[in-house]
Amino acid sequence: MHNIRNYSFDTQCVHAGVKTDETGAVTTPIYQTSTFRFKNAEHGAKLFKGEEKGFIYTRLGNPTIEAMENAIAILEGGAKALGCSSGMSAVHTLVAGTLQAGDHIISSESVYGATQTLLANVMPRFGITTTFVDTSSIEAIKNAIQPNTKMLYIETPANPTIVISDLGAIGKIAKEHNFIYVLDNTFMSPVLQKPFDFGVDYSIHSMTKYLNGHADVVAGVIIVKDEANYPAIKKMLNHFGGTIDPFNAFLVHRGLKTLKLRVMKAQENAQIIAEYLEKNPKVEKVMYPGLKSHPQYEIAQKQQKGPGSMISFELKGGFEAGINLMNNIEIFQLAVSLGGVESLIQHPASMTHAGMTKEAKLSAKITDGLVRVSVGIEDIDDLLSSLDNVFKKI
Ligand SMILES: *Cc1c(COP(=O)(O)O)cnc(C)c1O
Repeated sequence: MHNIRNYSFDTQCVHAGVKTDETGAVTTPIYQTSTFRFKNAEHGAKLFKGEEKGFIYTRLGNPTIEAMENAIAILEGGAKALGCSSGMSAVHTLVAGTLQAGDHIISSESVYGATQTLLANVMPRFGITTTFVDTSSIEAIKNAIQPNTKMLYIETPANPTIVISDLGAIGKIAKEHNFIYVLDNTFMSPVLQKPFDFGVDYSIHSMTKYLNGHADVVAGVIIVKDEANYPAIKKMLNHFGGTIDPFNAFLVHRGLKTLKLRVMKAQENAQIIAEYLEKNPKVEKVMYPGLKSHPQYEIAQKQQKGPGSMISFELKGGFEAGINLMNNIEIFQLAVSLGGVESLIQHPASMTHAGMTKEAKLSAKITDGLVRVSVGIEDIDDLLSSLDNVFKKI
């Protein structure tokens, strides 16, 4: 048997992790069971002592979940992956599982809304504090270092501003200070960004997005670069209980087979839409790493295999224009989330980031006319004519 890690990414998408049984099933069966029968008392005792490998109880492990985890570890290029019930379960398990009271985090200021809330409002109750900085500035990161800093938490491209942070340069800081280096790689997926090439220790994904890709699952994953870091977070997840269920794990594993096809097609559409928006007189500014006008275009070229399919743009008419666009657009579904086959559109100021204070929004560059688009895999001419129609109305 060849080692699947030596095959190309496209082949890995289709075959990685697939574990069949004696029936010869071509895909991994769904082991929809909460618990596993022991052969006898001695067998049960050995499993609990860890003297023999096997399954005990689905919160602790399940073959369908394990197959999906193996696939993702291979695609991301890490040693092991840990499936979680949501992206937020992955963030929480990692932060609460690796840090303790008194520790300090430096985080990208423009992060996923619920991550911002968890780090800013919830973790301080347990003694873990966070400073949010513009991590596209290496100076800003260095200035935020405190004696108790333990973790760098980076999201790039950031949500929803598409600001890009220099992963290699941040990796040097992490190494120099022995910080735990975490990357939320949701926006890129392993097709477009390989966290472990830059010294990242843990990457996380909301698998709800590109990895599953069909807007029908909520799930998350933590991937470790070093196997040595796996047992501790696995144990934490066992206790915190944010386990993914076997059916969702099956759906994610199925989604992975078309991951590259979907990501590449959506990206092709996104580049065309970004160029269209940049020429549109009703648009003030477009943020997309595939445009030369993007402030970190060069860094994106260096660390990403492509610009991806998330675009944000600023409407000239502000809040009012944003609402107007939401109420008149066709094909693009007015919905939060991203990374699915269908194009989605949303207005952060009135939706995902509405809970942030005015100052926090301002500092994270979430302006009133900002619109975020997750481009899907529909026909590009249909998407463009839908945009044309809506711009005539606003
Ligand atoms: C969606 C998302 C999350 C949270 O994931 P859930 O699956 O919704 O819990 C975290 N980070 C990013 C970048 C996301 O887009």
